[in-house]
Amino acid sequence: MKIGIPRALSYYNFFPFWYGFFSDLGIEIVLSDKTTKQTMTDGSSLVVPETCLPVKVYVGHILNLLNKGIDKIFVPSIQSIAPKIYNCSKIRGLPDLIRNVVKRDFTIIESTLDKSEKNQGLYEFLSEAVKPFGITDIERIKKASKNAWKVYNNYQIMTRSGVPYKKALKYALENKVVIADNAKSYPVSIALIAHGYNLYDERVSMKIFDKLEELDVKVYTAEQLTIEQMNEGLNSMNSRLYWANEYEITGAAAHYIKDRAIDGVITINAFGCGPDSLMLERISRYARKLNKPILHLSIDEQTGEAGFVTRIEAFVDMLYRKKRSGILNKINIKDSNGIQVRNILK
Ligand code: SF4
Repeated sequence: MKIGIPRALSYYNFFPFWYGFFSDLGIEIVLSDKTTKQTMTDGSSLVVPETCLPVKVYVGHILNLLNKGIDKIFVPSIQSIAPKIYNCSKIRGLPDLIRNVVKRDFTIIESTLDKSEKNQGLYEFLSEAVKPFGITDIERIKKASKNAWKVYNNYQIMTRSGVPYKKALKYALENKVVIADNAKSYPVSIALIAHGYNLYDERVSMKIFDKLEELDVKVYTAEQLTIEQMNEGLNSMNSRLYWANEYEITGAAAHYIKDRAIDGVITINAFGCGPDSLMLERISRYARKLNKPILHLSIDEQTGEAGFVTRIEAFVDMLYRKKRSGILNKINIKDSNGIQVRNILK
């Protein structure tokens, strides 16, 4: 029994859970390869140009799995994760989109999670996912779900403590838990705000974590926050939860904008993303209000790495200068006549 899982979209949020679930039932997971330029080109060739980059990448990963000979591919339709909280239309309609653009012979495993219209439970969603493999025993499904939560919770414990995404994922799949060593101090701290698929897909985010580490910047993400902290962020902006990703975008951004230990915020969003454009507008206004520097990076398949890196470097440089001048302003140096000289130092 083999199931293909595209290394895109919900993979970056839920793969530890899928792994714990399917492997407990003896279903072998075959992942698509990491995103390359070719993945983007292949995906883009099948959809209209206005489609956002993450969906183009997703289509490219489906093609990659088909080329590996996988004939059952998991394409969940995650409509709504809680009453009146919805995903964007592209994520909700993902199975239909794939069926209509990828004209190949394969089975789409399209279990639906809809907590608003149908008030479905998780077991219904999981049962649908394994029905094509002839697994219908609910007790087996419940046991596998328990294992899925274990792997997922371990992963969350690690990311919350600050273990980087790649390491946390690796350890969680090995059934291990490690806690981050946060001993190293950094001169500048930045919060990086984006959907998991825009942040942790190294081709899409152009290895932004490595770039910031080279610039000696400490990076914080939504994964380090609890739901309560993100909720509190949303409340401070008087923002209502509507989109499924509102916690990791608006909630996390608001939390870090208020946090004095964070020097600046960088957001990454896909060009043409409707939900992000609404959320980012509110985030920008809040950052302006609290005087927190913010940089918005928009990406599509044409985005060049050189321009992307230059903007990050300029932003980090500005934060260093701002911090340095803030420190100098606090130093009270006077000359022999008692006149303040700190402006000369600046
Ligand atoms: S939330 Fe935005 S980036 Fe994500 S799939 Fe929807 S439109 Fe695309």
